[in-house]
Amino acid sequence: GFKCGIVGLPNVGKSTIFNAITSAGAESANYPFCTIEPNVGVVAVPDKRLDALAAIVKPQAILPTSMEFVDIAGLVAGASKGEGLGNKFLGHIRQVDAIANIVRCFEDDNVVHVDGSVDPLRDIEVIQTELNLADMDTVEKRIQRTSKQAKSGDKEMQAELEILERVRDALNEGKPARAVGLSANEAKRIAELCLITIKPVLYVANVSEDDLEGEHPFVQKVRDHAAAEGAEMVLICGKIESEIAELDAEEKIEFLQEMGLEESGLDRMIHAGYKLLGLITYFTAGVKEVRAWTVHDGALAPQAAGVIHTDFEKGFIRAEVTAYDDYINSGGEAGAKEKGLLRLEGKEYRVVDGDVMHFRFNV
Ligand code: GDP
Repeated sequence: GFKCGIVGLPNVGKSTIFNAITSAGAESANYPFCTIEPNVGVVAVPDKRLDALAAIVKPQAILPTSMEFVDIAGLVAGASKGEGLGNKFLGHIRQVDAIANIVRCFEDDNVVHVDGSVDPLRDIEVIQTELNLADMDTVEKRIQRTSKQAKSGDKEMQAELEILERVRDALNEGKPARAVGLSANEAKRIAELCLITIKPVLYVANVSEDDLEGEHPFVQKVRDHAAAEGAEMVLICGKIESEIAELDAEEKIEFLQEMGLEESGLDRMIHAGYKLLGLITYFTAGVKEVRAWTVHDGALAPQAAGVIHTDFEKGFIRAEVTAYDDYINSGGEAGAKEKGLLRLEGKEYRVVDGDVMHFRFNV
């Protein structure tokens, strides 16, 4: 599955938000939240299109796609040098695909801040510094090894060394590795280092109940910081989310309407994480189940089939594809076929978000 790690300094609201995520997962009966480890939660990705498809197909089951959130505790100043949970923390964070950085923007005298005051930009900097130091250590060690092999004339190692030096220079300037702008090929060459600062980041501003409009100066600072980095920011109020997590589906809709909100902060966070990971959804729609599946944006039809079963990918012949809007507007597959909107696509077809697909394959 695709994993999004939750990081942040102590007392910023990580556990509150993580707990809301896990109990929100429990609410979806068809996709029960499951605990892999105490700090890993699998959550359904909310998707209104599933309901629209189900209204047409009337399936026995509706199955959303899912995402994993990992609560990564232990990030404090000095973590890269072994303070706090140190290495254990870094081990966890290397394994995630993207990072949600929870930043405290709420003031509450009852909740102590580790540095004595609420200051989101300082917090972001503390976290970035730790992650940079950890990567710097990894890169320096690798450079030592690689430069020996490069000197002995190894062309591959010379190419790698050149990339490593660019990353090191950026880290030295306090920039994350993702700011280097490596090509996909270059990134692949150093992928096994599992650099932390190369992962995409989502800033999650945890605000107090009164600041949900996002006008508070703290939030604006985080928003500007995210924009300058080309990153996204999501607004959330941990306290409200933990209340929403207690409600059943209908109560939740009512509650959100009363607050004038389209979707919960949690749903926004899940969607933002999904987007950050570069993921898209395609659907299968049959009487047994209407189901959402996740692929990387750019996936070809056989890869999409492979998400269902590896045999589907190996024996792939063709895919019957209907664009989501065509499917809905035609009242389903039969209608789409009549209008010539059901296409037969081959191995080179690039999946589009929302495609309703049916695979033909050899066994
Ligand atoms: P963590 O250390 O980052 O996991 O932080 P916690 O989730 O344990 O939260 C620390 C404290 O802040 C707890 O007492 C929470 O109840 C409180 N808290 C979390 N989110 C909010 C919020 O949005 N508003 C307020 N006022 N308190 C919050």
